[in-house]
Amino acid sequence: MPDAPADALAKRFGLAGRTAAVTGASRGIGAVIAAGLATAGARVYGLSRSGTGSEGVQAFSCDVSNPAAVEAAFSTIGADAGQLNVLINAAGISLGPSNGSPSEEIERFRTTLEADLVSVYATVLAARRLLKASGRGSIVNVTSINSSRGFPGNPGYVAAKAGLTGLTRALAVDLAADGIRVNALAPGYVHTAMTDASYRDPALNAQRRRQTILDRWGEPDDLVGAALFLASDASAYMTGQEIIIDGGWTAKGLVT
Ligand code: NAP
Repeated sequence: MPDAPADALAKRFGLAGRTAAVTGASRGIGAVIAAGLATAGARVYGLSRSGTGSEGVQAFSCDVSNPAAVEAAFSTIGADAGQLNVLINAAGISLGPSNGSPSEEIERFRTTLEADLVSVYATVLAARRLLKASGRGSIVNVTSINSSRGFPGNPGYVAAKAGLTGLTRALAVDLAADGIRVNALAPGYVHTAMTDASYRDPALNAQRRRQTILDRWGEPDDLVGAALFLASDASAYMTGQEIIIDGGWTAKGLVT
């Protein structure tokens, strides 16, 4: 007998019986997405340097800038779960402005590219076999509106996120034969530890709020619905795309 419409819908968006890994799961956007995947029924592994995480998430320590550590982490997940349906790449750093010497600036640029871009490629390579084994893998890369807009004082971050949007498309092509879809989620300004300094500054807070159409900052919870959509079968015919969740920041024509 076919499922009742409500059951079919729940199945389409649900993750019961699925396995997921989330990098950057110790706090902020990654932590809230990891908790959301667990609520949708997935068994979730959370990776971060501190190795902490939300309730219902099996958290362990892994520095994604270290390819050997990433390999080891996915070999542990493989031994435990055998396969992986979902990989969310949410780990990231933003070093902010500095006025260093050229060699110091290049070092910051390299560190940011390693943490925000090269790390994602290393994570995907380490997880690929497990994602293929699931028969329907879904990778979600957390990019940014920096992927398509120039922001001041942080060239490494802007370059890394633009690169990550490109990497998303490249991997969508390369991994399709393994049954793996690859998409991106691009947040606008979301209140987390990463943005706390500007959130607390009244002038910067108001300036960022006014850039949006919805007249508010984002919260990590604002990203969970789209993450579930991309992780689940609801997005089965979607790959190589980026969903922008920015309160209308990139659609707004005039900031008043
Ligand atoms: P956050 O609160 O600072 O969280 C960053 C997460 O990444 C933490 O869990 C951190 O855990 C982990 N992490 C950082 N470097 C790592 C490494 N080398 N290895 C493993 N884990 C690492 O920042 P967030 O705002 O939630 O950012 C999450 C993602 O969203 C990032 O990719 C960020 O670029 C992106 N994003 C954020 C915003 C925003 O407005 N907040 C906007 C657009 C995009 P540990 O410190 O424990 O390692």
